[in-house]
Amino acid sequence: MALREIRVQGDPVLEKVCKEVKEITPRTQDLIDDMIETMYEANGVGLAAPQVGILKRIVVIDVGEGPIVMINPRIISTDGEQTGDEGCLSVPGKAGCVTRPNYVMARFFNEDMQECEIEGTELLARAICHELDHLDGHLYVEKVEGGLHDVTYEEEVEE
Ligand code: ZN
Repeated sequence: MALREIRVQGDPVLEKVCKEVKEITPRTQDLIDDMIETMYEANGVGLAAPQVGILKRIVVIDVGEGPIVMINPRIISTDGEQTGDEGCLSVPGKAGCVTRPNYVMARFFNEDMQECEIEGTELLARAICHELDHLDGHLYVEKVEGGLHDVTYEEEVEE
């Protein structure tokens, strides 16, 4: 496993639509392992492949319950609303207020390419929405209400 460089806002790779994963090759598995390590090293709760420069539909999330690897994820249904501060490893040192669904149900493939389903509320729902946006070239800053503000390193726990 190895750390990968996290791309920051302004890098065109963050604005592109990612491609579906057709099979898990050894390179894909290396990418997933590196993404998890890079996410933990950066104290993020999620990381999407384009954030390390790879245009594949892969995200990793850990909201404190262990890593979730989502391949070709799709949001199937949402419910409710939550409004709160959100940050991104690709927009370091900043946060901003974003409204997201409070409940999300998503389908994805795991590392064995088996179809899985996940339900998340609160932080997990927010993280799923945030990370899936990356796969379509969107950053949370497009959705911020009231502008970005600076955060200290200690507060910068939310991807
Ligand atoms: Zn992000």
